[in-house]
Amino acid sequence: MLLADVVSASARVAATRSRTAKTEVVADVLRAAEPAEVALVTAYLAGVLPQRRVGVGWRTLGSLPSPAAEPSLTVVGVDGLLQRLADASGPGSVAARAALVGELFGAATAGEQTFLRGLISGELRQGAQDGVMQAAIATAADVPATLVRRAVMLAGFSAPVAAAAMSGGVQALEQVGLEVGRPLRPMLAGSEPSVAEALSTAAAQGDPVAIECKLDGIRVQAHKVGDQVRLFTRSLDDVTDRLPEVVEVVRGLPADTLVLDGEVIALREDGSPHPFQVTGARTASSKDPAELRRTTPVTPWFFDVLHRDGADLIDQPATVRVAALVDVVPTEHLVPRAVTADTGEAQAFFEEWVGRGHEGVVVKSLAAPYAAGRRGAGWVKVKPRHTLDLVVLAVEWGSGRRRGMLSNIHLGARDPETGGFVMLGKTFKGMTDAMLDWQTRRFTELATDRGEWVVTVRPEQVVEIAFDGVQRSSRYPGGMALRFARVLRYRDDKTAEQADTVDDVRRLAGWS
Ligand code: AMP
Repeated sequence: MLLADVVSASARVAATRSRTAKTEVVADVLRAAEPAEVALVTAYLAGVLPQRRVGVGWRTLGSLPSPAAEPSLTVVGVDGLLQRLADASGPGSVAARAALVGELFGAATAGEQTFLRGLISGELRQGAQDGVMQAAIATAADVPATLVRRAVMLAGFSAPVAAAAMSGGVQALEQVGLEVGRPLRPMLAGSEPSVAEALSTAAAQGDPVAIECKLDGIRVQAHKVGDQVRLFTRSLDDVTDRLPEVVEVVRGLPADTLVLDGEVIALREDGSPHPFQVTGARTASSKDPAELRRTTPVTPWFFDVLHRDGADLIDQPATVRVAALVDVVPTEHLVPRAVTADTGEAQAFFEEWVGRGHEGVVVKSLAAPYAAGRRGAGWVKVKPRHTLDLVVLAVEWGSGRRRGMLSNIHLGARDPETGGFVMLGKTFKGMTDAMLDWQTRRFTELATDRGEWVVTVRPEQVVEIAFDGVQRSSRYPGGMALRFARVLRYRDDKTAEQADTVDDVRRLAGWS
């Protein structure tokens, strides 16, 4: 099959809103593919690079050879070139890599170049979503969709499942199971605004639930076979080499085969958590893992076990899984947890752990199985809602539906030392149409400088902002930025002198 066939199908998927039409397009391609091509075609249409990473960065992708006039690349040929790129290492690999990129992109048409660039950078926006892909596999192979979904959750990706379904039908799909060493999709959490609501979502009124501390770290699925340990992130990337101290902990656990789910986090000496970016740097940064381990060691805290010594546990209720977890993992590596039916007790647990600097809690049904890949009622997260009263420093003109309106507001906290304001971020979220109309008029009145993009205003208007947390930032002068800031309302009952200060923000972040 030509790559051009995949690229054109991908464009047709992007061009229609109808789920049925998208499914048909993908199913047609799967039917037309040779058995050896099915997995590749599925991966490409899902926007997943089978090699995950091929070591080609933005700079290389920014200067490509001129495109070919006619398509000639085959799916199998592309995979061969990508594999050689992924394998290129050691002396001379820079030149070898450049030659391979030239060979691949030089043979690609303009449309194929765009597609390949998206695939390699992981930003292919037109990929067939999971749901469409699973429906297409079920249609093309004429097998039940529920079977496809379960197989994808357990295999982690749709490509091997498509290959199994197309060649072996129901029987082959039934053989796809949890394999120790291969990551499966992690269970996801729903969300509620309060502990009381989370309790009633996770269990029938009055039934006990588990309540656990929610750590703002890196999700890690740990697989152990004898002395071999592998660690995977939430997006199923292998981060074993990045987290040697976590590998050591897992290797020492008393089980031959084991799959654990948990969170790793960098803690300060007093046990409080570092901000997310500090932990995140352990897997995001290209610095030497040993060096990072010295400066910011992480601790794994596990909250679930999916397999232990030959027994798959994902279909067991949480009570059974937790009993197995407590049996293999020492207390210092277990997420803090309580079981209660009492809203007051659960609220006290929430306040205690949030008070210690953690992100919130996850309320869990005691009866729920491990629902791989799904966001169900089995796990419900609750985070505190932080709010601040800030001052609008400038506004950006909107685009698209908001063209002609002043939309994205720049947010400042008062700086009592200078009497000025320190910018903490921007937001265009949470505004109703009426608010947009109002703020366009209001900020036009307050304008001191009308730039083409940004209108600077007299710092007089106070706005109440909700946000999820404070992070360190080199972009803003105060060295900090708000996460997920959104407007709650404009406050005309407060003057700028009564707005919150940078010290309030630092205190909220736990930095003073
Ligand atoms: P969110 O990413 O906000 O949807 O919240 C779900 C994430 O919280 C999971 O993917 C985990 O990485 C993280 N998490 C932290 N603590 C827990 C916990 N005790 N149970 C489940 N997930 C947790």
